[in-house]
Amino acid sequence: MGGESAVRIAALLPDVLGTYSDGGNVTVLAQRLRWRQIPVEICTVAAGDVPPADCDLYVLGGGEDGAQVFAADWLRRHSRLRATLEERAVTMVVCAGLQVLGRWMQDTAGRRHPGADVLDLTTKAGRRRAIGEVVSRCAIPGVGALTGFENHRGVTTLGAGLLPLAEVVRGVGNGAGDHGDGVLTSTVVGTYLHGPVLARNPALADAVLSRVTGRALPSLELQDQEAVRRLRLGRSSVTRLRAARW
Ligand code: GLN
Repeated sequence: MGGESAVRIAALLPDVLGTYSDGGNVTVLAQRLRWRQIPVEICTVAAGDVPPADCDLYVLGGGEDGAQVFAADWLRRHSRLRATLEERAVTMVVCAGLQVLGRWMQDTAGRRHPGADVLDLTTKAGRRRAIGEVVSRCAIPGVGALTGFENHRGVTTLGAGLLPLAEVVRGVGNGAGDHGDGVLTSTVVGTYLHGPVLARNPALADAVLSRVTGRALPSLELQDQEAVRRLRLGRSSVTRLRAARW
């Protein structure tokens, strides 16, 4: 009897921030645990649900401007969850999910909407949308290059104590002029990359899972994984970027 307790992953607001297939990140995280015989439980938390505050990992995806204002209000209303994100749980956020964790978000009309205030970062609408493939170098040791696609207008500035998840080699990312993408703290992994990003970058998924489980995980050798990765990096090469005109 007994055995390892399940890692509990909360998919937050897939009905609100579900535009860019980022829900696939939850599938990837759960499956990489199952492949290692680590039990996992997924809690899908819709806008009408009371969110559990005792999960190990919370995942938020991208979405439209209006949807993310709703999501930020929702997080502030659910103060136990908000405190869990601030103090304890590992959180994986993408694009709008990253923006809503910040102090505020300023829309194209110059209106400021309060964020969930979990992280010291702010977002303003930029002059034009950043759309296209991104290649970056991840700051987490051993993760290497990340690829994904971005589609956002928000420009995110990190507070003085925060560091980005990655350095952008191609594409825009946070867009604040320092070539950073996303944010990395002891509990939050945030990025502008869709894909879903964890399907395209399994090493990042494993880095998130290592934080959750508190240990290095045995590697998974999946058929064709390395070949697919080389193909993606090749397609995103700087030479092609110059030719691509996006
Ligand atoms: N609505 C936000 C923006 O345009 C986020 C978009 C997204 O999640 N891809 O900046």
